[in-house]
Amino acid sequence: MKKTTFLLFVLSVFQYGNAQHSHNSDHALTYPNIEGYVTLKTDLHIHTVFSDGNVWPTIRVQEALRENLDAISLTEHLEYQPHAADIPHPDRNRSYDLALAEAKEHDLLIIHGSEITRAAPVGHSNAVFIKDANPLLTDKAENAFSEAKKQNAFVFWNHPAWYAQNSDGNPVLSDFQKDRIKKGELHGIEVINTIDYNEASLALALEQNLTILGTSDIHGLIDWDYTEKGSDRPITLVFAKEKSLESMREALFAGKTVAVYNSLLVGKPEFLIPLIQSSIEVTSAKYIPKTEVLEVQLKNVSSSPLLFKNAMDYGLYSSSPVFEIPALGTYTLRIKTLEEKENVDLKLQAIGTFTAPKESPVVSWNISVEK
Ligand code: ZN
Repeated sequence: MKKTTFLLFVLSVFQYGNAQHSHNSDHALTYPNIEGYVTLKTDLHIHTVFSDGNVWPTIRVQEALRENLDAISLTEHLEYQPHAADIPHPDRNRSYDLALAEAKEHDLLIIHGSEITRAAPVGHSNAVFIKDANPLLTDKAENAFSEAKKQNAFVFWNHPAWYAQNSDGNPVLSDFQKDRIKKGELHGIEVINTIDYNEASLALALEQNLTILGTSDIHGLIDWDYTEKGSDRPITLVFAKEKSLESMREALFAGKTVAVYNSLLVGKPEFLIPLIQSSIEVTSAKYIPKTEVLEVQLKNVSSSPLLFKNAMDYGLYSSSPVFEIPALGTYTLRIKTLEEKENVDLKLQAIGTFTAPKESPVVSWNISVEK
């Protein structure tokens, strides 16, 4: 071994021993923080061989590290255990324990969770931030929910619009869910599950004041189901005071989330609008010499391609009024301001994002023009 090679070897061993060493792939996800909050990238609906998934829990941790997620929860079906003959595990916390050990040297939060699984109208729900999965396995669904509440869990309704349970692909809020909400035992709802975004679920979230979530519900490999198809997994951005379990739990109960699936972003305006504002940076703004055409360079610092529609009275020059700023990419906008201005309010409707069914917010940026 040559001396330089040896040095590199020593350096790489040292780096590997570093507690925060990186496993990021080129699909590492990034979203900006918003004022007062850190933006946590989370997937709270994941399966492994400990229920009906096809991979070992350690692979879920490695996938999350490759995508630069901040938190995951392995939510095994308590009642549906197709691999139990090959992998018997009387302790239902096993999947969590294995993931926790794998994540130990990394900055990835592992949330203890489980899926409570019944036929319609009860359907499927995830309890996350539980302390012990075993007592959640009971004959009556009502008892599973009251046990989750006893453990101070955050509970959300999974794919309420799943066509296997509601053949028209729309959610039905049954007396079971109404009772759970009344008793403080149901706090959130998936509006995006796998590749399905459901507007009626969003309407329910707003009407019942449930936290908005998006999850992958992955059973196979993230790479095969999403990345290879040029897509990212659906996630929930959680706006927390800091990156910690307690802070994330608090934020989920307070409904501080945006569900994300590629260019689709869904959330309450108080979080969605600041997220879009922070995602687009104005890197330069000056008039094209001898014209009243203002040239603005926009940079998208998020992993979502963002679709916009011009919402200003001013027209655009050499651009469709509808345009996309690619994920982590740039776009040049030429605005016909008719006279030279020192400040311009850039107003764009973010047409791939929703604060309510079919409602996309108009976002503005105050631009100071360079002399
Ligand atoms: Zn599931």
